[in-house]
Amino acid sequence: MRVLVASHVDVARWLPMAACIEAMASAFTSLAAGDVVLPLRQVVHLPGTPNALFLMPAADRTTGAIGTKALTVFPGNDAGGIPSHQGVVLLFDAHDGRLTAILDAGTVTAIRTAAVSGLATRLLANADAGDVAILGAGVQARTHLAAMCTVRQVRRVRVWSHRRARADAFAREAGASQGMAIEACGSARTAVAGADIICTVTAAAAPVLVGADIAAGAHINAVGASSPTTRELDSAAVAMSRLFVDRRESALAESGDVVIARAEGAITDAHIRGELAELVTGAVRGRARHQDVTLFKSLGLAIEDLAAAHLVYERAVTSGAGTWIDL
Ligand code: NDP
Repeated sequence: MRVLVASHVDVARWLPMAACIEAMASAFTSLAAGDVVLPLRQVVHLPGTPNALFLMPAADRTTGAIGTKALTVFPGNDAGGIPSHQGVVLLFDAHDGRLTAILDAGTVTAIRTAAVSGLATRLLANADAGDVAILGAGVQARTHLAAMCTVRQVRRVRVWSHRRARADAFAREAGASQGMAIEACGSARTAVAGADIICTVTAAAAPVLVGADIAAGAHINAVGASSPTTRELDSAAVAMSRLFVDRRESALAESGDVVIARAEGAITDAHIRGELAELVTGAVRGRARHQDVTLFKSLGLAIEDLAAAHLVYERAVTSGAGTWIDL
């Protein structure tokens, strides 16, 4: 049985941002059409720690792919230089059940999450939005910068991270690789002042973005905080926004940004205007006016990993390259 083993280098090579955004658009179209089997993910929390193991299976009739991601999230690793997200995506053939590929999940997650934010930004941000603020300076910050530059004409980028040195390093390194000047800011408030696209990509447990700091017309991608007890946005930020999510059921159960704002009485469940799949197909209206604030809350879906893994596999097969093993 020939199986592709795609390292982080292979995944990065075969998953360029623009192509990954299109793959995400197709995956959400399949989801809207009912062609996807997507059980809620299983999360094994390690007691007394912020660490967890995520198991995320999915099947997509459109591409004929089935698969699962097994990923550990150890937020403290980042400080010690070990990635906070590690694991594998396993891809199978839906026709005969063969295992076809084993991929580095950290890189798949880094790219597909930003690609989904890119898709949401394409659908929700003002067409002239080009002043970008990134809160957080880790793995997702880098891929989000690439995604924002793919979907909008970016003219200014500011970054904030709770360790100033980290923001400085990001500004230097990501600025050089993207070929643009990036401003490191000393506070989140300074970073987002007047910004028309804001990406929150932190491991923060308490709000780093507050409603009072958000400019009219902004679009926000809220990507960190994936448990009901942690959040990146205060209730005012959520209440003032037209809110869209990747999946209602997950957002209402797992997103602290939504759950805590609801518990504080700032919003009701009806505040969620739609899912990304409904935006992709045009079933719900996104932005209504230039001055609206739009918010996309991302928790991550297994279908995103599956679509990304399928694209990597197809590109490996077409190019005849990569590492193949007999299992
Ligand atoms: P990294 O570990 O690479 O980076 C973490 C970032 O969070 C760093 O910028 C760090 O800042 C910052 N941070 C850590 N603690 C705090 C705090 N208490 N307050 C403010 N900022 C803090 O993680 P990733 O970039 O891979 O992921 C970022 C977030 O996105 C995580 O919460 C992760 O779980 C989530 N995520 C969501 C996905 C989705 O599908 N929605 C998919 C993947 C990740 P500094 O370096 O200055 O300490």
